[in-house]
Amino acid sequence: MPRYEYRCKTCGATFEMRRPMAQSAAPAPCPQGHDDTVKLLSTVSVASSASAPAPAPAGGAGGGCCGGGCCA
Ligand SMILES: [Zn+2]
Repeated sequence: MPRYEYRCKTCGATFEMRRPMAQSAAPAPCPQGHDDTVKLLSTVSVASSASAPAPAPAGGAGGGCCGGGCCA
């Protein structure tokens, strides 16, 4: 059974609920009993192939004039 995530607009709580897909759009009361909830993106395990390494920030902090206190 798929798992859906909801967020309560009243108290801001997020909670998950397992329910059939046919009821995914049905209102889901939050654990505190509020009815004003919205469905978030389902937390289905998506194979994200984020294999690109983050580029290292270029820019050398190679010391400068201020290192020796000549800027004071
Ligand atoms: Zn709530």
